[in-house]
Amino acid sequence: RQYLEESSERKRLYNENIELKGNIRVFCRCRPLNQAEVGNGCASVVEFDASHDNELQILSTDSSKKHFKFDHVFKPEDSQETVFAQTKPIVTSVLDGYNVCIFAYGQTGTGKTFTMEGTPENRGVNYRTLEELFRSSESRSRLMKFELSVSMLEVYNEKIRDLLVDNSNHPPKKLEVKQSAEGTQEVPGLVEAQVFNTDEVWDLLKRGYSVRSVGSTAANEQSSRSHCLLRVTVKGENLINGQKTRSHLWLVDLAGSERVGKVETEGERLKESQFINKSLSALGDVIAALASKTSHIPYRNSKLTHMLQNSLGGDCKTLMFVQISPSSADQGETLCSLNFASRVRGIESGPARKQT
Ligand code: ADP
Repeated sequence: RQYLEESSERKRLYNENIELKGNIRVFCRCRPLNQAEVGNGCASVVEFDASHDNELQILSTDSSKKHFKFDHVFKPEDSQETVFAQTKPIVTSVLDGYNVCIFAYGQTGTGKTFTMEGTPENRGVNYRTLEELFRSSESRSRLMKFELSVSMLEVYNEKIRDLLVDNSNHPPKKLEVKQSAEGTQEVPGLVEAQVFNTDEVWDLLKRGYSVRSVGSTAANEQSSRSHCLLRVTVKGENLINGQKTRSHLWLVDLAGSERVGKVETEGERLKESQFINKSLSALGDVIAALASKTSHIPYRNSKLTHMLQNSLGGDCKTLMFVQISPSSADQGETLCSLNFASRVRGIESGPARKQT
């Protein structure tokens, strides 16, 4: 009975939200001003709309306001629970056999990792998703049998690294995207660890995050310059008719989107920035092409989009969190991120909404 209720609730949400708006959604999340910003006298340049929870305005340097509209806008005070409540219908559709991709996009320091990974006290979308998948698969266990497994990888300078393998004492195994006999994109050799409960998931995630920082002299810096991907593979079997499904859910913490600074105009940093720009714009191009329903989708322009090819487009579901800072000091980057997100969603931004 619980299964039937959940299933009809999912169908309702699907019809109301996803079908009407297409399979691509953009949520904006603004972090709170931090103490350093308050101490430095930075003010918030972001204004929220009390009666529309999907709109915001940015005060420009010339004091004009620019208006943006997304599928949802989360304010600085919105909790991880609130964010997950909106995300849940999308992530759980992986149990119905859909491929799903969730991205966190934005300048470094805007809360991408906070949204996806979270902290032990304030867990993010990744952990909450697995928790929900276990709960939801359990409630359907009389009709369906599910097997969940997890992979974790990083894309740095267009190279793929397995985060569930401890590479600290060995040269990292080279991973590549290959086309399988069935025509799907696979990463042969990537570890896929089966998980049975949330404790195991938490241990695996911790392991992956720690491997991510090993081998880097400035761990935090490198992590903001690589894409971190968590892949959940769901194998389902219908116990009544024996039908089998296999679907992927990708949870992606993207590299920082900030533009190349003056100090980065040469050497390793420049190379990193060029790779980041290339892969983020390739991702933007793919989502924009999907949103505008053009026939050619340029998946092959980066490792990231090539690897995610089977989970982007068709009836796959895509959600992008555009993360922003409220601070006046970050205004330029905030506008860039919001413009990028508007473009991928095919939504025009415009002048400030008239106050009535
Ligand atoms: P990014 O991954 O984009 O570089 P982080 O997730 O590391 O950014 O966030 C930067 C800092 O801001 C962290 O200390 C994080 O805990 C804090 N932070 C980000 N978003 C929020 C939020 N919504 N509420 C409270 N703190 C946040």
